[in-house]
Amino acid sequence: MIELRTPAEIDAMRPAGRFVAEVLATLRDETKVGTNLLHLDRRAHDMIRAAGAESCYIDYHPSFGASPFGKVLCTSINDAVLHGLPHDYVLRDGDLVSLDFAASVDGWVADSAVSFVVGTARDEDLALIDTTQRALAAAIDHATVGNKIGDISAAIAAVAHARDLKINTDFGGHGVGRTMHGDPHVANDGKAGRGYPLRAGLVVALEPWFLHTTDRLVTDPDGWTLRSADGSRGSHSEHTVAITPEGPIVLTDRSFLGVD
Ligand code: MG
Repeated sequence: MIELRTPAEIDAMRPAGRFVAEVLATLRDETKVGTNLLHLDRRAHDMIRAAGAESCYIDYHPSFGASPFGKVLCTSINDAVLHGLPHDYVLRDGDLVSLDFAASVDGWVADSAVSFVVGTARDEDLALIDTTQRALAAAIDHATVGNKIGDISAAIAAVAHARDLKINTDFGGHGVGRTMHGDPHVANDGKAGRGYPLRAGLVVALEPWFLHTTDRLVTDPDGWTLRSADGSRGSHSEHTVAITPEGPIVLTDRSFLGVD
């Protein structure tokens, strides 16, 4: 069921969006060559506790998960792109890091993800990250009253196809509200003009993610971490966005913190 939020409810979601933005900005700033992924998860856990927020991940146990997630942060490194379960790994020069974080504040959820390179970046990784960032910007531009879900999907796909990337549509955007995942599903590929009409009050997480040279994923033995089937690297950009008559509001915007 698709739920629409009143302007007052969208305002009530702002603290969750701001908190998620602050956590990702902090983690991004503190993630360096030599950082252990378990440290990043503990850091996020400490920030959740200090803010009186709740993790959306720690008890998350969907049908495809082997067991409850047990951590508060997704850390997907290099050829891992989604649902990376933090493990005892120390980041190396040139690693491509994707952090995905969702939390609830005052009973409202926000969800966001960012990709970046630690140390010396390869040009092809920077180009891939740029592509998911531009796809997210295009998705947000199309998140307007009067458009349809398919307009967002088509806008994301156009950016990927311009770089000759194939798109896996197994995982994509979703409604966000009292819980992390609601209707509607927002696929990262689709036809413009099709699907659910975007109405004022719809709040969705938009999350383009792409791999260099494949659209096939394999799951790690940990039961969670999703990796490219051919070893090529991935990037993921996500924001929680409220659709309003005045245009899209990016609830998880980090720009006020001086980071993109
Ligand atoms: Mg997310």
